[in-house]
Amino acid sequence: MAVSHIQQLAALTEEIVACRVCTRLVNWREKIGAEKRASYRDWDYWAKPVPSFGDPDASLVLLGLAPAAHGGNRTGRVFTGDPSATFLTAAMHQAGLANQPTSEHRDDGLKLTGVYVSAAVRCVPPGDKPTPEEQRTCLPYLVQELKTLPNLKVVMALGHIAFRAALQTLSDMAGEKLKGKFIHGEVYRFGPGLPMMVASYHPSPRNTNTGVLNMDALVKVLNQAKELSLS
Ligand code: SF4
Repeated sequence: MAVSHIQQLAALTEEIVACRVCTRLVNWREKIGAEKRASYRDWDYWAKPVPSFGDPDASLVLLGLAPAAHGGNRTGRVFTGDPSATFLTAAMHQAGLANQPTSEHRDDGLKLTGVYVSAAVRCVPPGDKPTPEEQRTCLPYLVQELKTLPNLKVVMALGHIAFRAALQTLSDMAGEKLKGKFIHGEVYRFGPGLPMMVASYHPSPRNTNTGVLNMDALVKVLNQAKELSLS
């Protein structure tokens, strides 16, 4: 019997969650989970690789860099439970991609339509900076994921590092080195058989509190990516 893409994604998720390949990141994610932030001391931290989340029939993928220490690494869902998640989910809701404007924990009722949210690196890195080797080690999971999404048309990268990871992922899929310079709102077309890319600033407090990225600008680029993915 043929295995559906939904079953393939579920099997890949199981494999990712069990991964312990990067010793430095395994130690870091578990240390954070054991020590906890004082305000979350009653939480049982996830402290494992954080799987992707969303609509398996999506034509649009949003790509972040890695889970946040007390966001995804705590809650076990990508872009969940931290200020970046709050900003991004409110924007997705305005763009008609999410059924609610908040993303707080795994059982909060959030449902995404037409969009699948993923990350280039699945374990929280110290200082939010994975090494190039850690990025290379984790990348095959993303390549596999993108190949499994049957309707994929657009990958929207959130931030410079996710942008480079998306370029590398599409290069792996294409079998040739693809090039592009990060420009917020820019669309990158690489030819038949490959998804387009869209670049956006990351919805981190560093960007949203300093005016680099505001809600209208993020909703605008999300709407642009959504329209491209449905065209
Ligand atoms: S970062 Fe990726 S490859 Fe490394 S341990 Fe986590 S899931 Fe595995």
